[in-house]
Amino acid sequence: MSRPTTIAELDAGIVDCRRCPRLVAWREKVAREKRAAFAEETYWGRPVPGFGSTEPGLLIVGLAPAAHGANRTGRMFTGDRSGDWLYASMHRVGLASQPTSTGLDDGLELIGARILSAVRCAPPDNKPSTEEKENCAPWLDDELRLVSPSVQVIVALGAIGWDAALRAARRAGWTVPKPKPRFGHGAEAILGGPHGDVLLLGSYHPSQQNTFTGRLTEPMLDDVLGRAAAMIEP
Ligand code: SF4
Repeated sequence: MSRPTTIAELDAGIVDCRRCPRLVAWREKVAREKRAAFAEETYWGRPVPGFGSTEPGLLIVGLAPAAHGANRTGRMFTGDRSGDWLYASMHRVGLASQPTSTGLDDGLELIGARILSAVRCAPPDNKPSTEEKENCAPWLDDELRLVSPSVQVIVALGAIGWDAALRAARRAGWTVPKPKPRFGHGAEAILGGPHGDVLLLGSYHPSQQNTFTGRLTEPMLDDVLGRAAAMIEP
């Protein structure tokens, strides 16, 4: 299979992907059955492509679409509490044109940034299997290749995003420190990309599990994203 040469080709391939039978069945079941609060809406119910600049200085790597968030709206981190946190923070630090992301036609633009996930389909319990993560890795590889000329910083949201970014960098032949850098909030590693060094920054994922418990606070998220924003060229 020939690999995409533009972001538009990549996105077209992603949204038609049916490589993981369990995730295809789950994303479509959720889209049919819906949550009562969204009963009148037409769910996206497909893989969710990356969102934002096609020549980003900053790449944000999350885990996977949420069943009633991105799997409903068709845009990463849109329509759920995690996204409310993420886009509000991005707006505070100058990476987003508005503090909210509610749907594909809300006018939101990211400033020098692109958001994607390691797995593009909503998984049951937010837990993709190892095989599903491996199935989806070629899409991440393609996206990293296509944006690598401009990327200066990668922010990984959560340990799975961190591992996915490191693995993708290694597969692409980038220089990755050994032993493997450990994930943590504020963790960092320098990756040697084909167009120069890229800073990998870790952040706790803005999931409700982290934000409700105070493990991740707004200043903590602003700190990591603000650092990334200050490093990228406008
Ligand atoms: Fe395709 Fe990735 Fe969705 Fe699996 S998770 S069906 S590989 S887009």
